[in-house]
Order: sequence, then structure tokens, then C-alpha cells
Amino acid sequence: MRLKRWILLAGVASMGALSFGAAHAASANPFFQPSSYPYQAPAFDRIKESDYQPAFERGMVEHLREVNAIAKDKAAPSFENTIVALEKSGRLLDRVTETFFGVYQANSTPALDRVQSREAPRLAQHQDEINLNARLFARIKTLYDQRATLGLNAEQSQLLEVYYQQFVHAGALLPPAKKTRLRAINKREAELESAYQQRLVAAARDGALVVDQKEALAGLDDAALMNAQKAASDRHHPGKFLLSLQNTVQQPELEALQSRTTRQALFEASWTRAERGDAHDTRAIIAELAQLRAEKAALFGYPNYAAYVLYDQMAKTPEAATGFMQQLVPALAKAQKREASLLQKAMEHDKQTGTLQPWDWPYYAAQVKREKFAFNQDELKPYFELNHVLTDGVFYAAEQLYGLHFKQRHDIPTYHPDVMVYEVFDHDNSPLGLMYFDYFKRDTKSGGAWMSNFVGQSHLLGTKPVIYNVANFAKASAGQPQLITSDDVVTMFHEFGHALHGLFANQTYPTLSGTNVARDFVEFPSQFNENWAFDPKVLAHYARHYQTGQPIPEALVAKMKKAAHFDQSYALGEIVTAATLDLRWHGLSATAPRQKVDMFEAQELGSMGLDVAQIPPRYRSSTFLHIWSNGYAAGYYAYLWTEMLDQDAFAWFSAHGGLTRANGQRFRDLILSQGHTQDYGSMFRAFYGQNPDIEPMLRHRGLVEDMTP
Ligand SMILES: [Zn+2]
Repeated sequence: MRLKRWILLAGVASMGALSFGAAHAASANPFFQPSSYPYQAPAFDRIKESDYQPAFERGMVEHLREVNAIAKDKAAPSFENTIVALEKSGRLLDRVTETFFGVYQANSTPALDRVQSREAPRLAQHQDEINLNARLFARIKTLYDQRATLGLNAEQSQLLEVYYQQFVHAGALLPPAKKTRLRAINKREAELESAYQQRLVAAARDGALVVDQKEALAGLDDAALMNAQKAASDRHHPGKFLLSLQNTVQQPELEALQSRTTRQALFEASWTRAERGDAHDTRAIIAELAQLRAEKAALFGYPNYAAYVLYDQMAKTPEAATGFMQQLVPALAKAQKREASLLQKAMEHDKQTGTLQPWDWPYYAAQVKREKFAFNQDELKPYFELNHVLTDGVFYAAEQLYGLHFKQRHDIPTYHPDVMVYEVFDHDNSPLGLMYFDYFKRDTKSGGAWMSNFVGQSHLLGTKPVIYNVANFAKASAGQPQLITSDDVVTMFHEFGHALHGLFANQTYPTLSGTNVARDFVEFPSQFNENWAFDPKVLAHYARHYQTGQPIPEALVAKMKKAAHFDQSYALGEIVTAATLDLRWHGLSATAPRQKVDMFEAQELGSMGLDVAQIPPRYRSSTFLHIWSNGYAAGYYAYLWTEMLDQDAFAWFSAHGGLTRANGQRFRDLILSQGHTQDYGSMFRAFYGQNPDIEPMLRHRGLVEDMTP
């Protein structure tokens, strides 16, 4: 979910009279006209890499010209000539932006890299010019002040409110001196954020653990050993082994490494990577960032940065986000004690002395899991064939709940031969939208999985959704069945949950449409849809052995579900502490002195009531990319918050008969089709009948002790 409609705050700058050879350009560049394919699907058969840059440049000029005309309109501001006109502006820029970033993430090339490097700062500047356009804001403010008398419907009122708030939030109402200071802070913040990112990448690279002897890596499988050997020789350590660091504090190899010494060395390499007092040390940067952000919040009259950024989120205040996490702590702390003592015993059984350490936890957790549950992920795979999971699982659940139908189309061009296209039909057989599925890992693809739109839904613009789901599943070799893991299955349901949110969008205005919602709401539909992956009725329908056609044995499913509950105290604990740390950093007031990072971190972690000595945060301050440079400042809690929402909603379904058309229709009507037309809290209460509560989430995580003897 990265492609917000970033054009929202459109702007003005006179770029002079740039003219284009319109007739010749229109025939040459496919972006200059809306696509003539069904649903305006991108014309990938005609788009060349060289088309993007001219389309961006012309798109920005056109957009600025349109916005400038709105700002300078001689007519008194009206909803139509200002807000609606802004919603209609920037069509060419939207077309090229949505297509470019879709392809860039999924199938990049050096040429696209160059377009990205060149255009990203220009797009940011383009947006800034619009944010700071005083004439444009004056029109919006006039309308906002008259809003009660404009005769607007509910969606229009919401749209005006969103425009006004976003301009205010960007500084439109500040007096000149504060505006000047804000610009200076923004500039310094951007510099620090990008310096942080660069240092972190270098710290991870240089922090990799080099191991001399193969014996020290006992427990790793052959493939991992070969990777480590190759990585070492690539980095000029021939004959040695290199374990590279991933972003999180904990490293995946810790589950397998038998040598406690190696485990400790790997953990410490990760924990201290950005705190070595060298050129990659990030502590001075984050201390300054925390202080600058607090000052920025104070310019707007907020007590701290968290309060400043949460204004348009579902939680609304840092107190609500913190209070939610504190509710998790008692059950979580209890479960952590329970699991820690189990692992301590396993360690003693293994003839190791002393207290269980963070580098021991993943290793003994994996061991206990193997012994206690006798569960091996590989047993599941023969039952998860990708095409069956998609059509008999993901589509089947959508058919049962929402009455949808899917028809594969071979006449829509794609950017890669692995991409499949389906047309989606509603319960009354009317066309709903277009879906692309791009599931396989490639060198040209970013890691992870995501969903976004090539075309957003809008009644105003007459567009229906064109959506893609992208993932990184291992592709089977030719002639082999395409089997996937249970995690992959969950990913398919997750991304399709986002897709449903986009497909059911039913808004007039693009800004409020579909998945254009707050961070702490957007993962709600996707995480909710994950629940159907292992619903007995859905599972029985798709999970069949690829050779024999036999349904998945119930005993295996039971084992899988039991094993999934184990070690949740770790998985949840590391996120709760990281999310709380984020809120504490961004809860500092502008008058607080610049913090000593280690002291602040130790003091805050120590006050959370959780076991941070054995279960450190998923990211520590010095390596927390999400909050220092990826736009998630005071927002990491959102992952947990949306889990609460999705488990509440699923509990409601379970109490009302589960997988039924009636339940699905109700969820669609009250949540999935609403976009950002309403306050998130009211929307949720309309469905759930009350405010969100944490009980179903704790139950789902297996953190509520069973009362039965
Ligand atoms: Zn998601």
C-alpha cells in the first residue's frame, strides 16, 4: 500500500509556456490518452521504457496548469469549481504514476531505476508547490468556512474536510515566521531521513558476521552454507563464511545455529550494527530527528509529534494507541513467562548453563516446536497447489461471501508473461473490475507482497478498479507442480483482502475511494481476509493433494493450528515493544532536551512491563527504518491495531454463522465499500456494534489460557 493518491494536495507554479508537439506526441506516447483497453487497463503492449519520463514531465506541467487555473479562477469559489475541479485534475500524471510505480516495484530495470531517481524528487517538489499555494488554500478555506450552507451531501462534506485538514496540516494556517521555520525543519528532516537510511544500509552491510570455520555454523542446511560461502567470497573473504544481516534485530539463522557462541556473535553483530561510533552510527541523527519533530508539532500547537501525526488515523491520539497496547501487556507478560520457562528447561536439557538469552530463544523455540508438535511445514505443501488455492480457495471464499465470479482473460496485455489477468463480476453478473496476479519471485522484483491499483475507482471519473496483487513465491521448475507454503497461502488471502477493498470501492471522488484510508485501518480488510485461508469449509474446498486429489487430513490441520499458537508471546512481544518505543520517541515534547539514545531506549524499554531482556524489540531505535525514514513515525502500532479490528470482525462472523452471503454482504456494505467516506470509528462500530476490543485478538494469538482442566 504505497500509492496513495499523492496528487491530493495539488499545487501551482507557473512553469512557463512549455509546448508540446501534441499531434505527434499523442500518437507516440501511450500515456497521453486514456488506454482503450477494457477498464482503461495499461497498454503494456505499447508502453516503452522511454515513454515514462516524457509522460511524467508533461503530466506535471499539465497538472500545474490545471491547478493554477483553479487557484486563479475569477469566479467565487464553489465546491464544483474548486474541489471537484481538483479531483478531476492531473489525469495524465495519475496514469503514468500508477503504471510506472506498479511496474517499477514488480519488474524493474536499470532504465526504470534512472526514471525513478530523476522523477521522485521532482514529484515531491511538485506536491510541495501545491501544498504551499496560498491562493488555492484561500478558496478551500472559504468553502470550508461556509460548509454548513453549501448543501453538500455526506461524501462531499467529508471530501471538503479532508482537503482542508491536509492543507492545514501542511502549514497553510501558520503565520509567516512559523512557515519559514517549518520549511527549514522539513528540509533538515528530509536530509536526516535520507542520511539515516544510507547509514543503516551501510551498517547492515559492514555488520555482517564473518565466520572462519564451517564447524561454527553447524545446524545450517547445505543451501544456507553455500550462500554464506559465496557471500564471503563476493566480499573478499575467500574460504570463509558470511552471514548477512536483515533489517530486524533477530536473524533467521538463530533458529538453526547449534553453537551458542556463534548465535551470540550474530545477535550482537545485529544489535550493535548502527551503534559503533563509526561513520554508520545513527544515534546522533535520531536524537536530532526526535527533537526536530517535537518542534514541528509545537509549531502547530500539538504537545508532541505523535499527537500531530495521529490526527487523521482511526486511533486519533497517542493515548488511544498506547492504551490499546497496554491492554495487551498482562496476558502477554504471563505467556512470556510461561514460554521462557519451557525454553529454559529445553536449554538445560541441552546441557547449557546460565539464563536463556535473546540469541537462545529462537533456537530453543524451534526445537520445542519440532518435538512438542511433531509438525513439519513440508507436510502441508502437497495440498497447496497455487492455481487450486487461487480459484478453489481465494475465489471460492469471495464467491461464498460476496457472490463474485471470476473469468480469466488472455486478451489484456501484461508487463511480464507470469502475470495472470482475471475479470471480476459482481453477484448480479455486472462487471466489477480487473485483477492482475503476479506471484513469482524474480530478480527484478522488490521483496515482500503488496496490492495497489493501476486504475482507481471513481464515479466522477467514470473509472472502475484495475488492481494488482504481487508476491514473491518460489516458482516451480518447468513440468513440476506449483506447490506453495502455508505462509504463501496466507499471503494470497491477505493481498486479495486489499483487492476486495479496492474492488468494492463505490465512491464518487477518487481521493476518498477504496483503499485510500488511514494506516491503522488499511490492513484491516486484508488481515480479515486471511481468516478464510484455514476456515474448515474453505480449506476443505481447495486443499487437496496434488497427486491423489485426497483432502488434507484433519489431524494435519489440527497439528498446524496448535503449532501456530506456540511462541506467540515472542512474536507479539517484539512488536509491542517496538511500537511502544516508537510512540515514546514521538511522545517527547519540544522542551525536552536532546536525548542520549541508549539511555532513553533502555529506560523506556525497561518501563513496559514486558520481558525485554529475553525478547528485545523487533527493531531498536538505531535501526528502526520504519519510523526514522519510511513514513511510519508514531505509526508502527497500526499493524497491531488492525489485527484487533480484524479479529473482532472475524469473531462477529463466527458468532453469526461464518461464511455466508448475508454476512459477506453486511461486511461489504458497512466496511469494504465505504472507502474514506466516514469516520473510521463510526464505520467500525456500525459493523461490530461496539468499540474494538482486544479479547478476540488475544484468543487468536493463543494468549488466553484455556479454562478447561
Ligand atoms: Zn497488507
